[in-house]
Amino acid sequence: MAVRECEAPHCSGADAEINEICKQEGWPIGHPVLTRDSQGPCTCTCSCFALNTPICISEVEVKAIQDIKKGDYIYVAGLDLKWDQKKVLFSQGTKGNSKQPLTIYIVYGDNQHLVVTPDSLFLVENKKLKRADKLTPEDYLINQNGEKVKINGVTIGDFYGGFHHISTNIEEPSSDLQGHLIVANGIVCGDYALQIYYQSRKAYDTEMFVGTNEPTVGTQEYKSKYGTIENIKNKEFIPSHEHQIEKPPSNAMTFISEEESKRYMRYGSFRNFTDPNSRAWTEYLFTQFKSFYPEINYSLDWDNEVVNAYAWIEDGKRYVQLTGGLVRAEALEIEGISLVLAHEIGHHYGGEPFYPDSNGLSCEGQADFYASRNIMRVVWFGEYYITVMEKAITQISKFFKVTNKRDETEETAAFLPKDEELNMNSCSHPPGACRIETYNAGVDLKPKPACAN
Ligand SMILES: [Zn+2]
Repeated sequence: MAVRECEAPHCSGADAEINEICKQEGWPIGHPVLTRDSQGPCTCTCSCFALNTPICISEVEVKAIQDIKKGDYIYVAGLDLKWDQKKVLFSQGTKGNSKQPLTIYIVYGDNQHLVVTPDSLFLVENKKLKRADKLTPEDYLINQNGEKVKINGVTIGDFYGGFHHISTNIEEPSSDLQGHLIVANGIVCGDYALQIYYQSRKAYDTEMFVGTNEPTVGTQEYKSKYGTIENIKNKEFIPSHEHQIEKPPSNAMTFISEEESKRYMRYGSFRNFTDPNSRAWTEYLFTQFKSFYPEINYSLDWDNEVVNAYAWIEDGKRYVQLTGGLVRAEALEIEGISLVLAHEIGHHYGGEPFYPDSNGLSCEGQADFYASRNIMRVVWFGEYYITVMEKAITQISKFFKVTNKRDETEETAAFLPKDEELNMNSCSHPPGACRIETYNAGVDLKPKPACAN
């Protein structure tokens, strides 16, 4: 299980420290920061407005968000939109030069825009709240006079700049949101305390919210329904649909077959498109694996909803790529994703038997065996190898919807391959149950099972 998010008061209370470590390590907004509260381990994240976002401090004045200090006064209201000046109790931000993935870019009104994190909250029609990553061109934002403002487009991408957040009130919000609404670049939105409150409670499905079950900005479903914004003239924002990402050739090795991939896409469940964990795990794993397998070019095709991973050689260079669909697959967490990554590296270094005409890329069963037996043992030191492998095998069993035979009694542990699994001539993907057996054999330092090619 992924670590739960901390209770609201904890993150707010610890925020200066969280912010400090994010700043020191250059972690983007949304990066999960592991900490502890009274109930044990939990994660906090940061969420904010882009630097230079103008915030109303009175009826007529605005100030760039990062210039608002603790003790300054800003304009706040509740759902009644009766604005009043209140003292800022809370003002924190990141420095302005880091890359922030999964940033939402909203164009509205007379070509104005806002750059915010996906969990930023906006007041929309009928006094409801909507997360930024659920806004569509069919929504209206609300200005400080309560008038509707048309949204022209919403997109997602990387923002090369800083974020900042403020709050005048760190108490739990009441249902009228009194003191928690602010005006950012003319638009009414929630303050930081409100974001944290709903985020920590995963309470986006209360009646205060709309659009929770609608497609998330950036997904294929969203793009085909609402399109994207073309020609964004902003040096600091690169929309993800303009990302140049190396595409694997059609003969690249894969983690699962096309049929299996389609089946998972149809019946499997996924973490949200803007989920920061899936992304942070994958980026961490790339860093970790790169130190042991530095020749490989690692990439994550976040926008790709196909569930798979690839290994290939092009112009003498070695490549491994994971898709967004795979790393967001609910069955897989950091350990499972780690074993998938090891499988792809296993194609490169696993040795014979090789795929025909592949420049020496290993067959599927061999890639599985070498991944579990060698690569994971190299990357995860000491007993940590066992811990990671056990979790990884459990997650991949769930992914393949097969049982991990090792968890059962000794009686049934004698795994007998089914007839179709005895087809050992092929170099292609063995059935899920055989792959789980292969991973276990790798850990136990037993020979490669006969069902694995
Ligand atoms: Zn493979």
